[in-house]
Amino acid sequence: MAEKKKGKKKKKNKKSSQRWSHYRIEGDKVVAERFCSRCGPGIFLARHKDRLYCGKCHYTEFIKTSEKTSKK
Ligand SMILES: [Zn+2]
Repeated sequence: MAEKKKGKKKKKNKKSSQRWSHYRIEGDKVVAERFCSRCGPGIFLARHKDRLYCGKCHYTEFIKTSEKTSKK
């Protein structure tokens, strides 16, 4: 991620421990990937190879691997 200093931008406090990209960019839209069903919207699940993981409540949701996801 390249950080460019350009004009005034609001500073976002990013937790260094949560650097996963929680958003997918589709065209001009930013789509939220996945929320934690326990913590509710706003808390994202980290996407791992075969599971989703909440760093807050340690909730883990396994992704069905019966289908191979070719989606990017
Ligand atoms: Zn959670």
